Amino acid sequence: MHYRQTFLAFRHLLSRIRDVMAGADDPEARLGRIVGIIAEEMAAEVCSIYLRRAGEVLELFATRGLRESAVHYTRLRIGEGLIGEIAASGRPLALADAQHHPSFVLRPETGEEIYQSLMGVPIIARGRVLGVVAVQNQERRQYSDDEIEVLQTVAMVLAELVASGELVSRAELTPTEGIAVTPLRLEGVSLNAGLAIGTAVQHRPRITIRRIVADDTGIEHERLRRAVTEMHGSLDDILEHTMPGRGDEYRDVLETYRMIAADVGWLRRIGDAIDTGLTAEAAVQKVANEIRARFHQVSDPILRERVYDLEDLSNRLLQHLLGSIGESHELPEGVDAILVARNMGPAELLDYDVGRLKGLILEEGSFNAHVSIVARALDIPVIGQVRRALSRIEAGDTVILDGQHGQVFVRPSEHIREAFATNLEIRNRKQAAYVAERDAPAVTRDGVRVMLNINAGLLVDLPHVAEFGADGVGLYRTEVPFMARTELPDVENQRVLYARVLDYAAGKPVVFRTLDIGGDKVLPHWERLAEENPAMGWRAIRVALDRPALLRQQLRAMIRAAALTDLKVMFPMVADVEEFRFARRLFDQELQREARLRGPLPRTLRVGAMLEVPALVLQLDSLLAEADFISVGTNDLAQFLFASDRGSARMASRYDSLSPVFLDLLSDIVRRCRNAGVSVSLCGEMAGRPLDAMALVGIGYRDLSLPPFAVGPVRAMVRSLALGQLEAFMQEARLTREPTIRTKLVAFARDHAITI
Ligand code: PEP
Ligand code: MG
Repeated sequence: MHYRQTFLAFRHLLSRIRDVMAGADDPEARLGRIVGIIAEEMAAEVCSIYLRRAGEVLELFATRGLRESAVHYTRLRIGEGLIGEIAASGRPLALADAQHHPSFVLRPETGEEIYQSLMGVPIIARGRVLGVVAVQNQERRQYSDDEIEVLQTVAMVLAELVASGELVSRAELTPTEGIAVTPLRLEGVSLNAGLAIGTAVQHRPRITIRRIVADDTGIEHERLRRAVTEMHGSLDDILEHTMPGRGDEYRDVLETYRMIAADVGWLRRIGDAIDTGLTAEAAVQKVANEIRARFHQVSDPILRERVYDLEDLSNRLLQHLLGSIGESHELPEGVDAILVARNMGPAELLDYDVGRLKGLILEEGSFNAHVSIVARALDIPVIGQVRRALSRIEAGDTVILDGQHGQVFVRPSEHIREAFATNLEIRNRKQAAYVAERDAPAVTRDGVRVMLNINAGLLVDLPHVAEFGADGVGLYRTEVPFMARTELPDVENQRVLYARVLDYAAGKPVVFRTLDIGGDKVLPHWERLAEENPAMGWRAIRVALDRPALLRQQLRAMIRAAALTDLKVMFPMVADVEEFRFARRLFDQELQREARLRGPLPRTLRVGAMLEVPALVLQLDSLLAEADFISVGTNDLAQFLFASDRGSARMASRYDSLSPVFLDLLSDIVRRCRNAGVSVSLCGEMAGRPLDAMALVGIGYRDLSLPPFAVGPVRAMVRSLALGQLEAFMQEARLTREPTIRTKLVAFARDHAITI
């Protein structure tokens, strides 16, 4: 359809619906008239509305075109049939040949067998699917994007009617599964470890849009302009008042956020929606719905973050437009709160009194999301991807959040509550003990020293070197600060950052890893490629070798930051010795350049490679002739060895880091490095798990790099260990044909009183 035609038809449809909404009919009658209008205006033979009822079912509430007798009779489970699928996914569906779609389920009582095409969209209010509105046609009709948009806007109007509770009671609209007093255990993904017990507080932006159709678009544009200005003012306030002492990356995250708020593309789309005849608030909501629908299935974590940020900002903008800013962010008095949200942005989290926030549970959420980064900086445990958390956890419920294992206990029994209270106390006491023991060296009972370094990326990680008495920083992931910045930092900015890292380490060694970008770690200011297998794509050293200027600048900044002190640099994802050679040549060139131009140079220099790709392990001897040190990145090495995506929840327990195959490989590496006289450390996540770390020490590793909070537990393990016995045991245990020696190792630790 031509734009102008669409535009006029759309206004006509909206104004007819507005008249019905303003009329005196009861809600069901209004629904009946609305399906009639939609069918007429959209030239469809059928229009039906299904609403969600308790028990996770969708009930046919109104129809034009299907049999009247099916109303309140036809029911589909969420996920059942095309209508159920639209509700389950929260996304529109438009099919010219609906009957041959694999999800199609025929309900003969409706008489729908003669309709071939179907277009349906979810009715969503406050992030929850309340129902589905669908049109059907007898002929095979291709519905256009414009038509989907029109139906989505109509669904917005319907959402308000449904959310008012006049059609289906509010109690049913917020279904809880099971009886409220039953304890529940929910699973998710740990986004920040830690343990918390508290009272659930639901985070739902309380936004009700009453006016959808504008009387005067000029006024709506002006309202939008004013609300945007106000929103910027309030974001500036948050930045100014909550920042001191939180660290640079934390600030960068919020700066990025403020920048998104000024995104002209987003604001222009809202403006365009106002031009179609919507009020400012309806326009903001419409654009938010569109973004949400379009990016619903995007798996790229960085892109998803942007979508979350935009959603958060849409909510803030709506609150400014409706004059309700700040209303929904009160925590109940006198309780430790655990916040439950579909998702949220960093600024929204900071709107709460973070001192009283003990934990965060998200239905969505990802490790790299800004809200997770901020929560980590504030030391708030977070569990993400907890399915239907908002409908299964009620406000006021007691909740235990076990960030370590990614589980949530809702309304726990007295027994579990006590166990966790004890656990929490033990954990607090343990952490305090780890801090107190920071000066005790990690030496086994038979006198073998194991170096324990930390893995760091944010500046907030660095005080932990001193706090937990680590031996240094074994892996400084330079891409982390890059990811939080809006622009590529120049050489001077990088120099300042690296110099601060060295300052924090206070003379202890730091291993800087050059940028490991690409793959899923895309920088906001860096070109991105659509790749089928990004983890095996254009990332890390591969990017650096194709764009040497970036690597050279980074090396220059490192050389300058380490003037007169020791510099250790390593390259990630090397797959071939030639790549290492090339990168090392760039390093030497930078060194010569600095010597010529300015000096002073670092006191000592060591250039190493990460061992993360099996092909490089097969070239280890030639690598050892050229590298000053090796760091084994078991996260990637295991991923490529087992061809098993490290980020996939389904793969997580399929291959064990304690498999004899993997341990044999790791043992071979450490032996060959030692024979060549090249130092080797291991910096994957497994080094932070006491049992895994025990196995690593048992096969010869003496230098581990681990997450900061794991230093205490791993040190305790080392100090309780008699290495001689373990080494003999490991030789024997690795001969097994079983896929893992984990159980055997647990028994060994128990029998020998090793703290794991
Ligand atoms: C690894 O792959 O083990 C590693 C330490 O690097 P990253 O986790 O940053 O990929
Ligand atoms: Mg890696």
